[in-house]
Amino acid sequence: MSDDSRLNLSAATVARVALDVPLPKLFDYRADDATRDDIGARAVVPFGTKRAVGVVVDVASGSDVAPERLRRVERILREEPRLPAEWLDFARFASDYYHEPLGPVILNALPPRLRGPKALPAPPRAFALTGPGRAALATLPRRNARQRALLERLAHGPVDPAELSPPERSQLSRALESGWIEARAPVATRARFIAAHELNAEQRAAAGAVAAEGFGVTVLFGVTGSGKTEVYLGLIARALETGGQALVLVPEIALTPALETAFRERFPGARLVVQTSAMPEVERAAGWLAALEGRADIVLGTRLAVFAPLARLALVVVDEEQDASFKQQEGLRYSARDLAIVRARSAKAPVVLCSATPSVETFHHALSGRYRLIELHHRAVPEARLPAIRLLDLGAHPAREGLAAPLVEAIGERLARGEQALVFLNRRGYAPVLACPACGWVSGCTRCSANMVLHLADRELRCHHCGLAHGVPRACPQCGNPDLLPFGRGTQRIETTLAERFPKARVLRIDRDSARGRAGLEGLLGRAHRREADILVGTQILAKGHHFGRLTLVGVINADAGLFAPDYRAGERSFAQLQQVAGRAGRAELPGEVLIQTRYPHHPLYQSLVRHDYAGFAKSVLAEREKAGFPPFMFEAALRAESRDAERALAFLRRAAALAPASEGAVTLYDPAPMSLARLGGMERGQMLAQSASRPRLQIFLREWTGRLYAERASGVRWHLDVDPTEF
Ligand SMILES: [Zn+2]
Ligand SMILES: [Zn+2]
Repeated sequence: MSDDSRLNLSAATVARVALDVPLPKLFDYRADDATRDDIGARAVVPFGTKRAVGVVVDVASGSDVAPERLRRVERILREEPRLPAEWLDFARFASDYYHEPLGPVILNALPPRLRGPKALPAPPRAFALTGPGRAALATLPRRNARQRALLERLAHGPVDPAELSPPERSQLSRALESGWIEARAPVATRARFIAAHELNAEQRAAAGAVAAEGFGVTVLFGVTGSGKTEVYLGLIARALETGGQALVLVPEIALTPALETAFRERFPGARLVVQTSAMPEVERAAGWLAALEGRADIVLGTRLAVFAPLARLALVVVDEEQDASFKQQEGLRYSARDLAIVRARSAKAPVVLCSATPSVETFHHALSGRYRLIELHHRAVPEARLPAIRLLDLGAHPAREGLAAPLVEAIGERLARGEQALVFLNRRGYAPVLACPACGWVSGCTRCSANMVLHLADRELRCHHCGLAHGVPRACPQCGNPDLLPFGRGTQRIETTLAERFPKARVLRIDRDSARGRAGLEGLLGRAHRREADILVGTQILAKGHHFGRLTLVGVINADAGLFAPDYRAGERSFAQLQQVAGRAGRAELPGEVLIQTRYPHHPLYQSLVRHDYAGFAKSVLAEREKAGFPPFMFEAALRAESRDAERALAFLRRAAALAPASEGAVTLYDPAPMSLARLGGMERGQMLAQSASRPRLQIFLREWTGRLYAERASGVRWHLDVDPTEF
């Protein structure tokens, strides 16, 4: 081969492709017809002996790869919409900030369906009523309520499927088969907003302040019922009126079909896209494409929705911004709350963080003036009052089978008055551990440094960390003693106790186990709403967003568990959860009461809770954090390593410590230590913490450090970096 052809080859047009490969590099492929217009397009490329799908992030002439090793792009998917430059910039930001390679960041931000070579979902259609459909509407029997509801909805004109509620959507295929409806090209509709009520002066002022600015972070702080939701719904309406798009992030546990339905009712005609990890792949991909092509007005979703492509983003809302589910704990360990602020800034749009108990980091920024703090003081429904919170001293009122006498009495009073009571306990299963009183054996998980939980309903021991499950042993596996004892209490055991104490009452347990059944969470909540239960027993799955009209008593068992946890965020989480569950009591005309069983009635957390004084509590936590040198006064990152062999993981961390760049004292690197759950799913886990008072200095340090770590061979060890970690 002559030198000439080699020169030509090295000057070949090259597509630089991001692939889901954990290496800090892009992959070059020859693509003779590629132009810069292809940036943002998906591409099918050969990778090893397989094919992979990636995203073209650059087109260049020439490559560092030797010409003979440069392979050809198989296909650039030009028929599809491309990811816009702003979106790629956002992915680059996430990659830089969290020190995670760009390829995995981009590919994992896409819906799973777009990570493979399968064809994309068909473009949207609108559905319209046919002649036979009109006839069916007149003759269909009343009992076919769902079919009728769909036909009635279409009787006023064609409707985009994105505007249909989940129950209406579920009827589509049957109606299509019957010939009652047909698919057509989509129609442009105008979103409307139905206000629940007039905003009061305080809410109007809040909405006005947010709407008046471009980018800015507003903390909307107010108790349950103060109308935070009404304020942000009004802001969404304004964003849509001006042709903008709104992104609404909610906690995992809050995003139920009921919330989606509520949004559709408040915004008729709006093209609403839902994004969660639990939804069917095709539906998620279709929603994502609708957002990408500008066909979505509102994107409502859990943390992953922060990556939805929105070219006309005009408002970002993060509801319950303190919720732990906004932090991703694997892969790209991002905070959706923090990334939401970054997105809003680049779109020059306002961002609203809503909470009755903001995270202390957010509260700190609000107090320091970096964020605007708007506090809503008044309850929107004037007659609704805050529940009275009382502490039940277990020293004075010892618990029997987990329940203190005054709580049992209070439940009895509610039953006599035909009201509902909720017993809250954040622990699933029957008992947290099964033990042998003869030899001291406990039901430990063989794969984790944790105990297996007794689930008596299924006669199983289950590990809540790795999912390992097996039957309950008939006798102690260590000494053969047949009398094994359950220790402590979970929801199943309290359910049994309550059923024994109140034999006439209907007790309904609502937790992740009972919600897994046929009826699902919605079915259980429906039963609670229809008052088919007198006493509810539940975990945090019940704490958020569900209002039961006649629920007037909340009893909290085992609240003390959150007081002395080693994690410095435990107190803050505990307060938020207790205030949330307390908010379930007494919403309408009936005043509510909350009884918290505790051995530490004088603990400052409880004292602030009784006074409904979150601000006071947060300030005291901030004072402690400042003294102890914790975030938000310090910035942190954790380098973690896991291996089947504990020594190997720690040895990697020691090597990593030796590779750490010099920082002239700006960054403190702590010694490697096992994680608080040292073994998980058979992997031994260790970590070391890097801390700095300067975020930029920490970032510079981490960039250099991870660069060296990627070059290091780490056989038998998996490692990752967690910037702004929340779990230790
Ligand atoms: Zn034993
Ligand atoms: Zn386990």
